[in-house]
Amino acid sequence: MNRKQGKLFVISGPSGTGKGTICADLLKDENTRFSVSMTTRPPREGEVEGKDYYFVTREEFLANIDRENFLEYAEVFENMYGTPKDEIMRRLDKGRNIILDIDVQGGLQIKSAMPEAVLIFILPPSLAELRARLEGRNTEKQEIVEKRLGKALNEIKLISEYDYYIVNDDIETAVKKAKAIISSEGCRVSDKIKMIIKNYENEKGE
Ligand code: ADP
Ligand code: 5GP
Repeated sequence: MNRKQGKLFVISGPSGTGKGTICADLLKDENTRFSVSMTTRPPREGEVEGKDYYFVTREEFLANIDRENFLEYAEVFENMYGTPKDEIMRRLDKGRNIILDIDVQGGLQIKSAMPEAVLIFILPPSLAELRARLEGRNTEKQEIVEKRLGKALNEIKLISEYDYYIVNDDIETAVKKAKAIISSEGCRVSDKIKMIIKNYENEKGE
């Protein structure tokens, strides 16, 4: 591991809990990059190809699975979503922190492939508030909103597999906590400490 090695942060939580809103703030940091997923879901109004997602057909998605292009993928709410491998390793090697906004199944796949990844779960203050946010966002039909809400509690029950949780009550407090986690993880004593010790040795002429 080189000294500049970045970290992979997985952000998960029920649909409408505020993951996208929190990630948008974290990405203001120049050392942080978002992993743009591939999906078969149709774009929402305002979503930009290559920024929010790579929007593909199911056939294109399956071809990417065959070519082993994904770090993980999963079927979520009847659509396929996957994390492209491309760029992630290169960006980590350049010392960038990478943020993945992915569902719990994907988070667990990442954890087993890359145990050093840091998993953060975003909780809503209550299920009633989750409903209010998802309905207030007004991006899905009511039937899809109900499906997403119907899965929320089962997703929350998997939180024990995660490293951290944040209750997204007040957005500013939630973002502050996410930044604190990212910053603390960067100070972890890990293999990179060997490089730091080496620098002291060089300075002392050892
Ligand atoms: P997710 O990415 O988890 O599906 P979003 O970030 O799209 O969720 O947030 C869902 C809705 O809730 C959006 O309309 C967003 O503006 C709103 N929202 C996010 N965080 C908060 C918060 N702390 N308080 C109130 N509304 C919020
Ligand atoms: P949405 O349709 O609201 O953008 O996303 C629906 C769910 O899919 C969210 O929980 C989101 O985190 C998840 N998701 C987005 N991209 C990926 C991905 O690449 N892999 C997995 N496993 N889940 C993803």
